[in-house]
Amino acid sequence: MVYTYYNPKVALMGAGCVKEIGNQAREIGGTKALVVCGVSKHGEKLGKEIAALLKDSNVASAVYAGAEPNPTDTSVHNGAEMYARESCDMVVAVGGGSPMDCAKGIGIIATNGGKISDYEGAGHNLKPLPPLITVNTTAGTASEMTSFAVITDTGRHIKMALIDWRLTPDVAINDPELMVSMPPALTAATGMDALTHSVEAFVSTIATPVTDAAALKSIELIAEYLPKAVNDGTNIEAREMMAYAEYLAGIAFNNASLGYVHAMAHQLGGFYNLPHGVCNAILLPHVQAFNKEAVPERFVPIAQAMGVDVSKMSTDEAAGAAIDAIKALAADIGIPSGLAEIGAKEEDFPVLAENAMKDVCGMTNPREADLDEIIAIYKSAM
Ligand code: NDP
Ligand code: MN
Repeated sequence: MVYTYYNPKVALMGAGCVKEIGNQAREIGGTKALVVCGVSKHGEKLGKEIAALLKDSNVASAVYAGAEPNPTDTSVHNGAEMYARESCDMVVAVGGGSPMDCAKGIGIIATNGGKISDYEGAGHNLKPLPPLITVNTTAGTASEMTSFAVITDTGRHIKMALIDWRLTPDVAINDPELMVSMPPALTAATGMDALTHSVEAFVSTIATPVTDAAALKSIELIAEYLPKAVNDGTNIEAREMMAYAEYLAGIAFNNASLGYVHAMAHQLGGFYNLPHGVCNAILLPHVQAFNKEAVPERFVPIAQAMGVDVSKMSTDEAAGAAIDAIKALAADIGIPSGLAEIGAKEEDFPVLAENAMKDVCGMTNPREADLDEIIAIYKSAM
């Protein structure tokens, strides 16, 4: 079996590293950047700060504060129009997964034209995208280093996954100082998204030693540092370790892909416009309880990475303990206990399940489910 690994060309880590952005922009040959940021006051302020840093290195820019949470096709198209109007030659994203994915979508349209829905899924043989720098402010999605983008199709109310190695950013920036402003609930939700990436990649049907190493180290760091980052957002060590954890999780799932948690969470996010991390966090133990029956041995190292002493446990006991540890972590950091609490409705499950079965993320789940089983997992997570 042949495996391919995708990574950004350059990755910067550590407190203060965002100050390097101007040099990096010049290194990759950009002269005018479209800076894509969030729509909130916080998002727009960050966009302007990045524009100022670029200016210090004589790189011009135009700020597009148009990426809302769960970014839409419309936001991508508006951004692409601005990119052309402003004669930009590179894209810089600052924010969480939403601005970074929106920026990737803008990059696609900038060189390939058409509508973003034309590029859903994989295998579109894209023309090369403009240079892309991603500045990540959550710890989280790992979109700053992955070949994925997730864009909401406003017509169909679904989240489209776009997958192409050309979406991999050229420069990925993780500066923990930009993460201290996350409130506890956002820290918790995005941290559980990273945990979901690692767990799904570890039990994936296409996991390899490279992705396993990254996934397990990431789980270990999340178990130790996520509660600390939630309890005290200014703890810079915890923020830095969570940045490493989410980046490692990115290495894992960018190359081993995901599973039913993401396939099912995308439907909840697209249908009810809910935060991605919360949907994942709630579904994670329920999907893994289903998966454990097929690959119990894969859950033993997960239990160990979560800090469980498995030395006196059978494989089944250790696998169960891994899932209990995930549940305990989620409860400890204040994740809602079920889907009912976030507004999901049982009558919607058949259509959500049908769409989940079409989501590419589910293709590498270690146990195949039929429609009724997916519906049953949604129900168990209520
Ligand atoms: P978002 O980017 O959606 O941000 C959530 C909210 O948090 C926004 O209101 C944002 O506002 C705010 N915010 C972001 N950073 C900070 C900060 N440092 N301090 C205070 N507020 C902040 O969150 P996620 O990072 O969780 O991204 C989720 C999206 O990523 C989903 O659409 C999901 O599907 C996608 N995703 C993509 C993946 C990929 O590989 N491409 C993988 C997994 C998920 P503002 O931006 O205005 O500041
Ligand atoms: Mn995710």
